[in-house]
Amino acid sequence: MFAADRCVMYHSSWEWDMSEIRYDALRTLSSVPVERTAKNGNQKLSSIFGEKVFNLIAMKEYLAEGVYQKMADAIQRNARIDVETAENVAKGLKKWATDLGATHYTHWFQPLTGSTAEKHDSFFKPSLDITVQGMENLSAAELIQLEPDASSFPHGGLRSTDKARGYTVWDPSSYAFIMETENSKTLYIPAVYISYTGESLDFKTPLLKSCEVLNRAATAVCHYFDSSVNNVIATLGWEQEYFIVDAGLYKARPDLMITGRTLFGGKPARNQQLEDHYFASIPERIQTFMADFEKESYRLGIPLRTRHNEVAPGQYECAPMFEELNMANDHNLLLMDVMSRVAARHGLAVLFHEKPFAGVNGSGKHNNWSIATDRGKNLLSPGENPGSNLYFLTFFINVIKAVNEYGDMLRAGVATLGNEHRLGANEAPPAIISVFTGSQLETVLSTFKSVGLAASSSLGRDIIDLGVPRIPEAEKDATDRNRTSPFPFTGNKFEFRAVGSSQNNAQALTILNTMVAQQLADFKRDVDVRIGQGEDQHDALIAVLQGYIADSERIIFNGDGNSAEWAEEARKRGLKNAVSTPDALKALISNQARTIFSSNGIMNDAELTARYNVQLEQYVKKMDIEVRVCEEMVRTHILPAAFDYVRKLSDNYDGLHRMGLTKAADKVKAETELVISHVERTRELLEDLSKELDAVHHLTSLEEEAAQYSARIKPYLDAIRLEADHLERLVDDNLWKLPKYRELLFIR
Ligand code: ADP
Ligand code: MG
Repeated sequence: MFAADRCVMYHSSWEWDMSEIRYDALRTLSSVPVERTAKNGNQKLSSIFGEKVFNLIAMKEYLAEGVYQKMADAIQRNARIDVETAENVAKGLKKWATDLGATHYTHWFQPLTGSTAEKHDSFFKPSLDITVQGMENLSAAELIQLEPDASSFPHGGLRSTDKARGYTVWDPSSYAFIMETENSKTLYIPAVYISYTGESLDFKTPLLKSCEVLNRAATAVCHYFDSSVNNVIATLGWEQEYFIVDAGLYKARPDLMITGRTLFGGKPARNQQLEDHYFASIPERIQTFMADFEKESYRLGIPLRTRHNEVAPGQYECAPMFEELNMANDHNLLLMDVMSRVAARHGLAVLFHEKPFAGVNGSGKHNNWSIATDRGKNLLSPGENPGSNLYFLTFFINVIKAVNEYGDMLRAGVATLGNEHRLGANEAPPAIISVFTGSQLETVLSTFKSVGLAASSSLGRDIIDLGVPRIPEAEKDATDRNRTSPFPFTGNKFEFRAVGSSQNNAQALTILNTMVAQQLADFKRDVDVRIGQGEDQHDALIAVLQGYIADSERIIFNGDGNSAEWAEEARKRGLKNAVSTPDALKALISNQARTIFSSNGIMNDAELTARYNVQLEQYVKKMDIEVRVCEEMVRTHILPAAFDYVRKLSDNYDGLHRMGLTKAADKVKAETELVISHVERTRELLEDLSKELDAVHHLTSLEEEAAQYSARIKPYLDAIRLEADHLERLVDDNLWKLPKYRELLFIR
């Protein structure tokens, strides 16, 4: 039995009393050893990797040669799948899945909620002829297309309940897989999700379109250097940060359960100031959990490689080997699901929220992004001599130029309520978009701008010699690390660090792909104009790129992104600092955004506006939920604890008086007054908040409502928290009902 279940069982013999839940969770934790489910044996990971995935290896076994070839072409070369092939794939897929014990199948898609969606159907169909047993079956039609109701998902105005039809359509470029729970196995088929009229209602459709547009634009540019390139793919290696808390303590915190973050809680004396959690030895209970979810992930073909403690207590990170972008993103979403499931088995809860705890680091999802040719060449690899490597410089400079042109859109791609708490705080990148190149590449760029290609500009891998002969010489990287840059270049890829840990990356990556694609297309046009005027191709490439560097200098920043000086400097450079989400989201529907999304066929105006609306809506709704939880917790947890404490103090006061200890009694009185002052202040704030809410609720435009929530409502959450946290520090610990930060963060 696991901690969380035990907690419930333990409770069933008691009156369910909220005031006990904190102590109960703590008692359960320390009295009974947690059962560990991970029994890893000595299996090699290579022996289980992908065993629940209908990948090319499984396809080879289950599909006829010709069908297999068509699937391989679709996956590797983007070829379209005809109905006859789909028919055969459906047969093979069903056979494979049922051989492995799957009884149900589902399309697995990514609606605008930000999480994934699924609806299971059984393979088994009873026969209409009652003398014949029914059988398992999957038709091509079922593989290709299913029909969920579209009005029940966020659609931002694209669908209404009377125009509700929506379709999910199979995405063959991401492998189907089997999800296993305690007693069931289900085949998951990755799918896009569109409306009856063909508009995308999900995150995957525009992402796939953007990959295709990027492919075409980048391939055309590659042809200046290598005519044999057929395709270019975007690659993604994400790093997922998360917190882990004990499930019993989690359940005793309504704010964590309902909003994903703590709305209250004073920072413990020891938080992250000793810097002793990052890369520290992984606590036993957490390591066991990690081994368990990793094993599950390998089976699902997610190539996890890295695990470590992150900076904040209770915070961790995992990262896979990078993959083709669409598949990589599906794997990220799948992993988040797997982690939550496995955590529950371990009596733990995973927090993906960007800022579950105030005052310590928040969580991001760094998107390591690059582009590679079908010949396997990473187009952002600088090689030994970047200053003379025109192929590399072309892509490197164009990405920088794209960020310079479309940085506001990039910011919009990571604009959520959760991320608003994180950006700019505790080492997270600021809300100002800039590019970190590192000083060596900055020099390479400035040399290139003034004199063109350098004969030799070796990245000069410096050696660090410690002077201890036994220790091997260490090589210095060409670029240092900058944890405060939202978009650093890290050796042979860019790392979009501003993405929030709970987000579906697809939104941010659709924007990134599209803007780089547009930039590359503009580049090709600029170069071809010069070639058309008789300029040599080599000279034309250099001249255009030199101009781009001059255009883009303002976006390059290699200093501390969180300093006040940078905010000021960025303002002078004309870079936007969109701190609030509604403000940042505006770039999603700017003329610039509308133009590049529609001209590249990625999203039309209606689709873009729908997304904008959904995100404003989510912002308002999520904050509204936070406000309700805050009110309820203050009224039912925090103030009652304060009142109990006041009663205790007043008994104390009476007693002291009776004993004639007036001086001591006066101190108790002062303490009581202090508690009461915070109580009164909290009550006033609640009353004012409720008036503000009334005013804001009467606004008719969603845009205005979101802006007002940000400007007028959000400050109340902070102000009320401040008072409540004072009370937490004053009130007798025995009377305090909510698990405290030290328990949430330090009990492992
Ligand atoms: P760090 O950022 O800590 O230096 P790594 O260099 O190992 O770590 O890379 C972090 C992530 O970047 C990993 O997921 C890795 O697979 C990914 N990555 C490495 N090369 C590429 C690439 N060419 N394209 C996309 N992601 C990449
Ligand atoms: Mg990294």
